[in-house]
This record gives sequence, C-alpha cells and structure tokens, in this order.
Amino acid sequence: MKIQAIETFYVAVPLTKPFKTALRTVTTAFSVVVKVTSDEGKVGYGEAPPTHVITGESLESIQYAINEIISPQLIGLSLLEKEIIFQKLHKALVRNTSAKAAVDMAIFDLLGQYAELPLYQYLGGYRNSLTTDFTVSVNEPAEMAEDAERYVREGFQILKVKVGIGTIQEDIERIEAIRRRVGKDIKIRLDANQGWNAKEAVRAIGTMEDTGLNIEFVEQPVPAEDLEGLKYVTERTATPIMADESVFSIYDAKRVLEMRAADLINIKLMKSGGIYQALKINTLAEANDITCMVGSMIETKIGITAAAHLAASQPNILFYDFDAPLMLAEDIVTGGIIYQASTMTFSKSYGLGIASVKIGEGQK
Ligand code: MG
Repeated sequence: MKIQAIETFYVAVPLTKPFKTALRTVTTAFSVVVKVTSDEGKVGYGEAPPTHVITGESLESIQYAINEIISPQLIGLSLLEKEIIFQKLHKALVRNTSAKAAVDMAIFDLLGQYAELPLYQYLGGYRNSLTTDFTVSVNEPAEMAEDAERYVREGFQILKVKVGIGTIQEDIERIEAIRRRVGKDIKIRLDANQGWNAKEAVRAIGTMEDTGLNIEFVEQPVPAEDLEGLKYVTERTATPIMADESVFSIYDAKRVLEMRAADLINIKLMKSGGIYQALKINTLAEANDITCMVGSMIETKIGITAAAHLAASQPNILFYDFDAPLMLAEDIVTGGIIYQASTMTFSKSYGLGIASVKIGEGQK
C-alpha cells in the first residue's frame, strides 16, 4: 500500500463555446493530469488546470511543483498513514493549490480503491446524486437569453449567470432578458467574479430585488482581497452573498466567518489544495452555520468527479456547480461521474471510478 510512482501529463480539450467571465475568456481547457501508482499496481487519477487569473498557476508551474517538489516527498509513503501524506503534501511548498489538489485527489482515489468503496461513500456517503447548474457566459443580453433558453431546453433548471462586465445597468439588462425568456420557475444564481465594487454591488443587487428578478445568491461581487467590501454587500442586501475567490485556505474561511463577511462559501479543490483541506473548510463553515457550494475551474471529468464525490459526501454542501465537462468538445475520461442532463450519479466502482484517461502524445 505504498506510493510507488507519480507521473504527470498534459491534456488540451477545446470548448464547444467560449467560456466568458469578468476575469477571462477560455476556448481550450488545458490541464495537467496526474497518475499516482501504488506498489500493488493500483492507479489513482487527479488533475490541475492552470487558472492563472485565480490561483496564479501555469502548466509549467504545476508540473514543476508536482514532479520536483511534491513527488520526492511522497514516494514510498504508505497509504495507511494518510495524515502523514497530507501533512507532507501541504507543507512541501506554499500556495500552488491546484498542483496539490491534483495529487490529493489521486491519493483519495487510491484510498477509496483500497477501502473498496466509491469515494463519496468512503468520505461520508450522505447523498448519491447531485443536480448541477449550467453557466451562462457574459455576453450581450440577447445572446445570453438565447443561451439560457437552450440550457433550460436541454434539462437544466438552475442557471449560473456570469456578470460584472460593463455598467451595472448592462448587468441588470442581462438578467432581465434571461428572466423574461426562461420564466419564473428557473433558478438564477449570479457570479460577478470580482467585477463590481461594494457600492455598485449593493445598487445592482438592490435593483434586482426591487424589480423581482428573484436571484438565488450572488457569488463574489467584489475583489477577492476586499473582505470589508464583501461584508458591506452582505449586510446591505437580502440576497445571500457567496465568497468564492476570497476563500482559498481554511485561514481565509476563518476570517470570512469571523467577520460574517459572506452568507455562503464556494469551495473548489483547486483553491483549497484538494479534498483533505476542503473537508476542513466545510466543517468550519458548518460550525458557523454557513452552508457551502462546491464548484470548479474549467476542468475535465477527472477533477469534477473528485469534486462531486466530495460534495455528495457532506450534508453541509448544498449547491453544486459541476458543468465544466459538459462544455468540452471531447470527454477524455472513461468512467467517473455519470451525467443525465443536470443530474449526476456515481458508478459502483471504487475510488473515483476512472477506468482510463486519454492522454495525448506522451507529453510528460
Ligand atoms: Mg465563482
């Protein structure tokens, strides 16, 4: 039950439609796939996409962190001593959370396989299916309304709408156009990706409340570092406010919770450094009566499968943003999470249940 080898590979998968937020436009999903092999030949998979504008990591930095820094510290360690593995993983270097997440999820994949349980059951087994939202990229109101209508037709009842570009008035027009098109029964949640300042956010959200646009919650209205601004918005709006880019580590979560700066927290493996730390953040949030969402970066089905297993395992995780693999032109994973429109279920396979990953031309 020892870690025998850790290998990394590049993958690149085009998106069917550009993904546009206040921070970036993505047309191809790049990722570093990690394969951890045990001395008995079991294989655990993980991945880390380079999300420069959020985590600061690149394909090269992720590979370097894993191959040169993390791997030498973990090779030879026993999976029976997982606390030692995760202590070493997180102390190996500061930040580089996506690199750590990739290794962490591959280790959890192996732990599930050795326990002979699907990972969500190994972690707690609270639910066995999830409902994901689908993201509407930020564009002109008419195009967004058209996209929204198509996603609803495809079976999505919850839309996550990206805003935070241009004026507040333009953002309000975007939501009005979508609400008119999809009707009142579809849930709409917003993500401003730090695109507003605190006063703009209060004005935008207040107007949406007054005009009955019925927004479920608003993610990260203000810049990540502006916790005072986040608190200002949270105190002055009735709509729940969710911290995303403001919370990477458990220490970030602790500060947001102490300040009561947000109503909800969005946990992503790529920010927390994987499942081990994500569980701690969720437990801390739960102790403060704050519920969580689990979301993702633009990831393939490897990362989303790990995130979905985590999300399903815990009663305090109530919101799910797992549409990224559905935006990709190709599924490079055999096995893993199963989609039927917005419903996600798990196979009975152990660990992450990933049978194989299509890896390109030996780009190691
Ligand atoms: Mg977000």
